[in-house]
Amino acid sequence: MLFFLLLAGGCLLSAWIGLSAGEEADGTAGGRLAIVIDDFGQQRKGVSEMLHLDCKLTAAVIPFLEYTEDDVEDALENGKEVIIHIPMQATTHDNPRHLGPRPVTTGMTREEILSWMKDALDEIPEAVGANIHMGTLCSTKQDVMSPIFEFLQEKQMYFLDSKTSSKSICREVAQTTTVAFYENRVFLEHERKTKDYVKKRLRKAMDIALSEGECIAIGHVGNEGGMITVEAIRELMPEFEENHVSLVFLSELTPFACREAGK
Ligand SMILES: [Zn+2]
Repeated sequence: MLFFLLLAGGCLLSAWIGLSAGEEADGTAGGRLAIVIDDFGQQRKGVSEMLHLDCKLTAAVIPFLEYTEDDVEDALENGKEVIIHIPMQATTHDNPRHLGPRPVTTGMTREEILSWMKDALDEIPEAVGANIHMGTLCSTKQDVMSPIFEFLQEKQMYFLDSKTSSKSICREVAQTTTVAFYENRVFLEHERKTKDYVKKRLRKAMDIALSEGECIAIGHVGNEGGMITVEAIRELMPEFEENHVSLVFLSELTPFACREAGK
């Protein structure tokens, strides 16, 4: 009962904060797009430029790294939303060095994972949500994902599934909790790391936002994107405006369970 009350409350809140799909305050058709930028805290390419873009972005910061605290501070000063980018064990095809010194792995106990999340939130207390860095293996494991959702529920933080693995069980685990759950729709640097390609992907995200009311896209700072992604977003901003697509924080979009319930 409590679950449904919380769910209904969350949906009403979303409806109140946001607008109905595809409609702006003045009645013109439009949409909302949340761009999440991954991989803050480590490589420097495009970090400062991304955080200084004059638009709403959600910055996913990896904890326990050299630049974690600097990037969080800079993101908040520039009015960005901050979430924890959880480095998680991937399949053997991925380079484990990319996970940093303190990843979440499949060998960890529930208590170890809860304690990892606590330490991460202690370092980034302003975080309002979380998503996964790499993690093609961990996101398929109930033993890993359950304690993470348990922690997020207690702290009333949301979760974004980047969907790096088609076998991700995040949605199923989320549905056993009251955690606000989101799924990525468009990876900005999915196949090619050129500005034209990223612009093409941003236009795809804009089209989804216009036809469905909202859309989530994920880009990167560092070697995965960096300045190419910064410039593509900057150059597309007039097009977003012309098409009445507003850039919003991820927390402003409708979580998955609310959408399934028909809002
Ligand atoms: Zn990442």
